Amino acid sequence: MAKSDNITKVDVAIFGAGIAGLWTFNHLKRLGYNVILLEKKAIGGEQSIASQGIIHSGLKFSLAGKVSNIAKTISKMPEIWQDALNGKNVVDLSNAKTNASSQHLFIPKGAFGNLTNIVAQKTLGNQAHSIPKNKWNENIKSCGFDGSIIFMDEPVLDIPSVIRALASPYISCIRKITDEQASTPFNFLKENNIIAKRIIFTCASNNHIIAKKNYHECGLETQKRPLLQAMLRPAPFPLYAHLVGKTDKPLVSITTHKAKNGDFIWYLGGKVAERKKDDDPNHVYNSALKTFKKYLPNIDFSDVKWSSLPIDRIEGKSRTDGWMPDTPTIHHTNEALYCWPTKLTFAPMLSQMILEDLKNLEIEPSNKISNFSFLPDVDYAQAPWDKTKWTKLI
Ligand SMILES: Cc1cc2nc3c(=O)[nH]c(=O)nc-3n(C[C@H](O)[C@H](O)[C@H](O)COP(=O)(O)OP(=O)(O)OC[C@H]3O[C@@H](n4cnc5c(N)ncnc54)[C@H](O)[C@@H]3O)c2cc1C
Repeated sequence: MAKSDNITKVDVAIFGAGIAGLWTFNHLKRLGYNVILLEKKAIGGEQSIASQGIIHSGLKFSLAGKVSNIAKTISKMPEIWQDALNGKNVVDLSNAKTNASSQHLFIPKGAFGNLTNIVAQKTLGNQAHSIPKNKWNENIKSCGFDGSIIFMDEPVLDIPSVIRALASPYISCIRKITDEQASTPFNFLKENNIIAKRIIFTCASNNHIIAKKNYHECGLETQKRPLLQAMLRPAPFPLYAHLVGKTDKPLVSITTHKAKNGDFIWYLGGKVAERKKDDDPNHVYNSALKTFKKYLPNIDFSDVKWSSLPIDRIEGKSRTDGWMPDTPTIHHTNEALYCWPTKLTFAPMLSQMILEDLKNLEIEPSNKISNFSFLPDVDYAQAPWDKTKWTKLI
């Protein structure tokens, strides 16, 4: 790979083009910072492109009947995202698509019942309310669900289009590095004569490895929570819903996505997916089917094809209950920042925290744009349903 002999001075160098790196990159670029974003695989990251695209408002995190801390901190996020989608935020997502403007909480008879209603009111005020049975849409009426349904004012975004909206305005400043260069990022910058006032790592699980290698590990704790997500096609109908059980986690969270060939996919997270990544995928398919047969009994799944995605959620270590932190995590060192958003929804908050760090160090936008053409372009990541194999359940 070509090296640059000229010195390139930037305000900020960011490693990792998932949602954390991309939102921060776009935000800083719009403020006039000279930024380079370096990615070793594809624009859109690993977890980000695989996410369900839900912009949480907190209700899902209050299912056990108490308003958790994360429910409170995350409840401010949908408004920020909505402003961005309307082109009214410093980050402009007006070219991104919304898959659904709201979601449903399905509460079967005998689950939390009224409690969730009360918590919904407490956390979200008027953003959540019960939908009377005669107002359910025809697909939901005919699927055989017996219980109550709560309307949640939480959008589900088309993440591939969010990624493009963040990356495309400044694509010439997003450059590819090799695995070898990515494993020694400080050397890479030095060898290419790139001098950055601040270096930021948004490399998910690799953050910890890089911090350790560079003796920045003191006080750093991270955690991985594995998932085996399931996908099925064709989707019976468009559905964006959390099916509530008797614990603080939904039995299954269903989002609907359009594959490149036009098919609609149901993407399934929640409790059914919370298992080891190397578990037999048939276990997650059968668990999802069992749940659907019990709660959505009139849907015929006999002709669908299935697929799975083993993946880790990576974040700072929760100080409280081993669940997830209530906010994004930043590990500060003199040489660099190591950052995890915790949830895609928190990307704007993380970016704001990074901006505070730059302000504290008196790093101001230089309003310059360097030429990074000595480094190669990076491709966009493909959604999980566009790059997987599908199988019929035997
Ligand atoms: C299945 C699933 C569903 C989810 N659904 C939701 C949801 O609906 N709503 C929500 O709010 N959150 C959701 N989350 C959580 C959310 O997706 C993550 O918190 C978020 O995407 C993490 O973003 P990130 O940028 O830190 O990481 P990633 O998206 O993983 O990006 C990290 C990037 O860094 C790159 N990289 C690694 N090392 C280097 C290096 N040395 N140099 C350069 N680049 C490097 C990687 O190639 C990758 O592109 C979900 C997570 C999963 C796994």
